[in-house]
Amino acid sequence: GSTIGILGGGQLGRMIAIAAAQLGYRTHIYAPEASGPAIDVARNWTRAAYEDEAALAAFAAQVDVVTYEFENVPVAPLKALGHTPLHPPAAALEVAQDRLAEKSFAERLGIATAPWAAVDDATSLAAALEQVGTPAILKTRRFGYDGKGQARIMAPEDAAAAWDAVGRRPAVLEGFVTFEAEFSIVAVRGADAFATYEAPENRHKDGILATSTLPASSIIRDQQDQAEAITRQLAEALDYCGVLTCEYFATADGPVFNEMAPRVHNSGHWTIEGAATSQFENHVRAICGLPLGWTARAFGRVEMHNLIGAEAGGWHGWLEQGGHLHLYGKGEARPGRKMGHVTLLG
Ligand code: ATP
Ligand code: MG
Ligand code: MG
Repeated sequence: GSTIGILGGGQLGRMIAIAAAQLGYRTHIYAPEASGPAIDVARNWTRAAYEDEAALAAFAAQVDVVTYEFENVPVAPLKALGHTPLHPPAAALEVAQDRLAEKSFAERLGIATAPWAAVDDATSLAAALEQVGTPAILKTRRFGYDGKGQARIMAPEDAAAAWDAVGRRPAVLEGFVTFEAEFSIVAVRGADAFATYEAPENRHKDGILATSTLPASSIIRDQQDQAEAITRQLAEALDYCGVLTCEYFATADGPVFNEMAPRVHNSGHWTIEGAATSQFENHVRAICGLPLGWTARAFGRVEMHNLIGAEAGGWHGWLEQGGHLHLYGKGEARPGRKMGHVTLLG
């Protein structure tokens, strides 16, 4: 059989590895950590830094295709993968790991986003506030996730505190979008096929995804087609291969693109039990050149709950309620850490 190389050792890699095993593939994880959810279920793993080109070249020689479950993999060292295919392409990483590149890319394609301006220092922040207005959100260009690296600016006098709060790092200032709900489009693009899943309604708590629910409210269902078209446009512009996720705000004026993740996504976990084919299986199918699976929702109602930090301690109760439990095998249940999730079908 063939071997899939996965950059990153977290829970997304674990769920890709499980789907890969079902299709008869082996997986080989590449990650700098000493342990991790994906490492426990893979056949092989390489512990090395993402910048280590010699280790990347040796890894590439042992696998048939490389993918990633983590969008902050540094791009330049990936040339060491040589002729081993990388799916999704490096271009998708480059765009998704820098909010300035991401916003500029969307703008070039004519896609609606929040009003935004680049911020490099206190002076450009003042100019950006003039342009964008308040309320606004200052977001670091790189390495932000789960709402980290963000500061709200309710009035111009909050600017200095916000600049300090994001560590005085290069950032993007975004105008605050008045939205009715949030949703995501999980899409998959293969060699000659493109498919999307039905959009879940995503609720966040403390900046972290808490639940994804289907069917979503009517405003989201009404905006599904438009958001699918935008997602497809982004995927085609990147000559994408694999699962691509785009987050949207559902506003009175239609979908507003928030950000993309060049990978399988937490808001797609409901597809494991709730859809005809899971996002993980479809990602594997796409990167291995197999036909894509049907993406339809398979139950009347599907609800995914993240188990964050100490919430994971309540897993027994979820089983009693008929939930499908996924625990990621992480050690300590630190606050804000995604320990697992549960899917309820109805
Ligand atoms: P993720 O973990 O999804 O990668 P992130 O840290 O990259 O999150 P964003 O998705 O940019 O952060 O923002 C987190 C949440 O903050 C959004 O889901 C939304 O609820 C809110 N938010 C972000 N930007 C805006 C905006 N411009 N207007 C209104 N709300 C926003
Ligand atoms: Mg993000
Ligand atoms: Mg987000």
